[in-house]
Amino acid sequence: MSFSALDRSVNIERLTTESFDLLVIGGGITGCGIALDAASRGLKTALIEKSDFAYGTSSRSTKLIHGGLRYLKQLEFGLVKEVGSERAIVHRLAPHLVIPEKMLLPLTDRSLGETLTSVGLKVYDWLAGVKREDRRKMLTRQQTLRQEPLLKGDRLKGGALYAEYRTDDARLTIEIAKTAVRHGALLLNYLKAVDFVYANGKVAGVRARDEFTNSEIEIKSKVVVNAAGPWVDELRKLNHSMKEKQLHLTKGVHIVVPFEKLPVRQSIYFDVEDGRMIFAIPRGRATYVGTTDTNYLGNLDEVHASKEDATYLINAVNQAFESVSLRVEDIESSWAGLRPLIHEEGKSASELSRKDEIFESDTGLVSIAGGKLTGYRKMAERTVDLVVDEYLDLDVRDCTTHKIKLTEPHFSNYDEVKEYVVQLKKKLDDLDLDPFYAKYLVHNYGKHSDRILSDIGSDASEASLMKAEIRYAVRNEMTHKLDDFLIRRTGRLFFDRPKLELLADFAVEEFAKSFQWNSQQLWDARAGLQRTLASVTDFH
Ligand code: FAD
Repeated sequence: MSFSALDRSVNIERLTTESFDLLVIGGGITGCGIALDAASRGLKTALIEKSDFAYGTSSRSTKLIHGGLRYLKQLEFGLVKEVGSERAIVHRLAPHLVIPEKMLLPLTDRSLGETLTSVGLKVYDWLAGVKREDRRKMLTRQQTLRQEPLLKGDRLKGGALYAEYRTDDARLTIEIAKTAVRHGALLLNYLKAVDFVYANGKVAGVRARDEFTNSEIEIKSKVVVNAAGPWVDELRKLNHSMKEKQLHLTKGVHIVVPFEKLPVRQSIYFDVEDGRMIFAIPRGRATYVGTTDTNYLGNLDEVHASKEDATYLINAVNQAFESVSLRVEDIESSWAGLRPLIHEEGKSASELSRKDEIFESDTGLVSIAGGKLTGYRKMAERTVDLVVDEYLDLDVRDCTTHKIKLTEPHFSNYDEVKEYVVQLKKKLDDLDLDPFYAKYLVHNYGKHSDRILSDIGSDASEASLMKAEIRYAVRNEMTHKLDDFLIRRTGRLFFDRPKLELLADFAVEEFAKSFQWNSQQLWDARAGLQRTLASVTDFH
């Protein structure tokens, strides 16, 4: 099974001529997780994505694999236990991509009291089965300020350090997709489900439109799972099965500023005046801050950060940190995502549960919504269990995804990752390249970093490194468009935008070469890239 963008016609042909046990609609983390679970149990599995993998919410989250401390406040013990325990599992499956990080929780006169926080975090660690050495540590006011001298001292009472993991949501989704392909699933992006196909009154496949050629194909499958995130209800409407529960979408915005403007030493989860809490997370040359949480009723394909969102986050930072006075003009990038939550009457955006739910229609469409990145594996297990039990008369293996490593060749543990980073720094040094790229490469591509480096050629430069990454991404990660690469394969648009402005022409050049673009396509791509670069600081 190929995951190269250059093998599209072969993949389309297979989707058209073969028939499947399970067809998943939606290539976010939920859909890709289901594809991996199903394929690894021996089901003949396909997945289609209308845009790029992780195009929806799965590239626009806070990028944490976390237990969700705030869900403890909402007394959602079951959710905290499940996602809390999943953190260590997902870390083991991809230690280069799900990285342990202590989170600093400053306590001010706005926070829960010290005793309540201490007990709360203890319960949090206990529910998640955190190892003794990683359990929460309470800090005095002085210790908290030593840990993060940038914090304002006036309202500070103390603090706590507790264990979390950070990740890149889109990379995690791509690695799960690649792993599903290694297990025999057929996954294709830029193919949109436009209608369902029925046999004897039951869903028996979908009609899908190729977003490059506009031609339609029919894909046959015994079961269809709708994992379309914020678009779940659109597909349920198409299936005439919008009854009872429905989605409630809330928008969450993150802004990115240069690291020098907000040089936090580590990830921080701090209080805001309105009673909400916000993360500030350093990553490479930048620090990102988020999130907002507001009801959303607009166009699902045009979700933007507004001036109000940006100002809210800037004010929150300026109130929490000493000698930091960010302005909207300091923002170098941003993203906005939609939480596909399940509506509960009378509850506000922040109060809605983050639990996932499965809906089954009378015609047999299985839809899954809600949930978190962190819980993707358990959501997939539950969905495939249900599909097998209720819709397929097949003898399949139990779920084994807790043992399936997400990148091959893989790292055994995080120490090995750190050693590999050191070796890569040396190699970059030999090539006269900035050692900054060592972590960047390893966190993105794991041990495939070596393969990319060896494809740079004799003239090593930042441009030739990026071109080698593009060749890798096109041939191995089904990358078709500049945005696929800059947002979802690398995060360069979010976390390294100033450098990207300098290298943009080289990226277009390499794509043109890979796909043999004509001059019109080249012109369109250049114009599209300028729009993309402008969009992340255009708050309206
Ligand atoms: P999506 O990622 O949106 O995927 C659905 C896909 O379906 C899309 O790619 C879409 O293009 C595709 N699709 C739609 N219609 C069709 C069609 N007709 N045909 C084919 N494809 C279609 N969780 C965490 O664990 N940690 C966090 O730190 C965290 N932070 C968050 C912060 C914010 C601001 C938000 C909004 C969410 C956050 N979450 C977090 C939650 C998490 O990101 C989501 O639960 C998760 O990404 C949802 O994934 P999904 O696959 O269900 O949806």
